[in-house]
Parts: sequence; structure tokens; C-alpha cells
Amino acid sequence: ERAALSRAITLVESRRSTDRRVGLELMLRTERYLAAQPQGLRLGITGSPGAGKSTFIEAYGKQIVDRGERLAVLAIDPSSTRTRGSILGDKTRMQTLSSHPLAYVRPSPAGRTLGGVTKATREAILLCEAAGYRHIVVETVGVGQSEHTIRLLCDCMALLVLPGSGDDLQGIKRGIVELADLVIVNKADGERERLARQTRADYGMALHLRPATQHDVWSPKAITASSVEADGLAEFHRMLGMFLSEMEGAPTRDRRHRQQADLFDLVWREAVVDELQSRVDFSARLRENRSGLTDGTRTLAEALAAQLASLNR
Ligand code: GDP
Repeated sequence: ERAALSRAITLVESRRSTDRRVGLELMLRTERYLAAQPQGLRLGITGSPGAGKSTFIEAYGKQIVDRGERLAVLAIDPSSTRTRGSILGDKTRMQTLSSHPLAYVRPSPAGRTLGGVTKATREAILLCEAAGYRHIVVETVGVGQSEHTIRLLCDCMALLVLPGSGDDLQGIKRGIVELADLVIVNKADGERERLARQTRADYGMALHLRPATQHDVWSPKAITASSVEADGLAEFHRMLGMFLSEMEGAPTRDRRHRQQADLFDLVWREAVVDELQSRVDFSARLRENRSGLTDGTRTLAEALAAQLASLNR
């Protein structure tokens, strides 16, 4: 029931204290329910704006829904707090999937910090899985911290890059490459096909040289694809299958448990702050201490001391 699923996700995104309590109860039940279900596949897709992420996800997702299976696409985009609208907010993106009965497309919650978006996205993933969506795609823009976050939410992470982007694998880009399980050189069509093959070789080399990670057993691969021509998808599925079977036998079986511990580190602060702010007494002290600063009756250290003291009351 898509409307119920949407309401459930809205509930867990909400920061209102009554919603948060109901949302937490919902998540406890969802986790219990999912513990007895076979695991679905969580795929992370990242890449710079324009790399072709939404086109790729459409092509990938279309194959899944054509097989009669369900797919949910969720976004992580903390930058939406600044630019309003989120990466999936534009209605023209993923037109086929957006209107397909077996697909569910949800933009990231607006007005949240990375920790908040991450927590909400994780909960949305679980709710989608409980609603029968066994294929999950989490999309993020290839800038900043959100790649590290997507790792904590997904089983496999694919990085989309453009032909010609492989000559300069330094700095931040290199950092992102080190997080990817698969690199897809997209737009390998028309005049760019040759260049794309060269770029794949560049990334293949960079991936080969990268330092060992927790995903030691898997050595990351680079492939080419054309999302508009739905070309390279068979190769992508083959790689994904190889990745999953290698990960299965490896001592990484409890990967999702470790992910949860790492996620906890990322999200507990915001949860605690939300909880405190919902306490009438604590927020009254916040306002009081703040106004003491603006009218000059308190110093900053005094205001902080008073605020902390109110915790113990
Ligand atoms: P995103 O910002 O990463 O989601 O990128 P989009 O999926 O919106 O794609 C950006 C532009 O690249 C659009 O005009 C797409 O039509 C185009 N594009 C995406 N994939 C391909 C591809 O495989 N080949 C070609 N030629 N163009 C593509």
C-alpha cells in the first residue's frame, strides 16, 4: 500500500516529539519483521551531477520492474537544505520509474543534517523492504560526506563517472574511488566510446592500486555502460552477482551489523538533541539563556553552565 508506505516514511522523517515516539515504535516492529525475511539488495549509486545517475537508475530499474519485481529509489542529499528541492525533487527525472506501479521513488527529506538524512534514509530503506521492495537503490551526489554515508546504508556501492575523467585520479576524486566497489564509465556511446574504454582502463589501474579496505576479498572493477542505450547493464548485473557471491562467503557476513554500529555513531547526537529540545523545561532554559546573551546579562560560559545545569534537574 504505497500511500501507507509514504505516510510511514513521513512519520519517521518527522522531528515532532509525538511522531518520533510512534516512529521509533514502528521501526522496532519493522526491524523485528525484517529479521525473519530474506535480505534484499541495497545498491548505492554515486557520481557528480550530470554523470547520468538518474538515467542509469531508470535503465537498471526498468529491467527489475520488467521482471515483475519491486524497486525503491531513495536519495541522500543534505545539500537540499541549502538549495531547497532535492536531487530527486525534479519531476522530470526517472519518469518511467516514478509512474511505474512496481517502483517507488522518494526524494531525501528536506531541511535535515547529514546525520538526520542518513537516519531517515536507513529507516525508509527498512520500511520499503518491509513493504516488499526487495531491490533498493540509494542515490547520492558525488560531493562531500554523503559517499561515506551511503557506504553505511548499502551492500554495494557503484560510482558513475564520465569518459575522460580518469586522467586525474587525485585528491577528493581519489577518495571517492576508494569507496567504490564498482566504477561505471557511463555515456560510453557514439564518439565517446573509445575514450570511455580508455577511462575504464585508467580506473581499473587506480582501483587495482588502491590500499586494502574492509572489503579486501573483493577487488573493485571498472566497466563501461551507456544508460541511454541500456548498454552494459548485463555486464553490470554480472559484476553485481560476482560481488555478492564473493561477499557472501567472506568473513564479512556480519557487514550489516558493523554498518549499524557505524551508523549509530553518526546519528545518536541528533536523536539526543531532538529529544532534549522536545522537553519543555530544557527549551525554556535555551530561550532564557539565549536572551540573557543578547541583552548582555550573561556571558557565554555562564549561559552554557546554566544550560548544562538544567540537564540535571
Ligand atoms: P545525474 O545528474 O547524474 O542524475 O545525470 P542525468 O541522468 O540527469 O543525466 C545527465 C544528462 O546526461 C542527461 O541529459 C542524460 O540524457 C545524459 N545521459 C545520461 N546517461 C547517458 C548515456 O549513457 N549516454 C549519453 N549519450 N547521454 C547520457
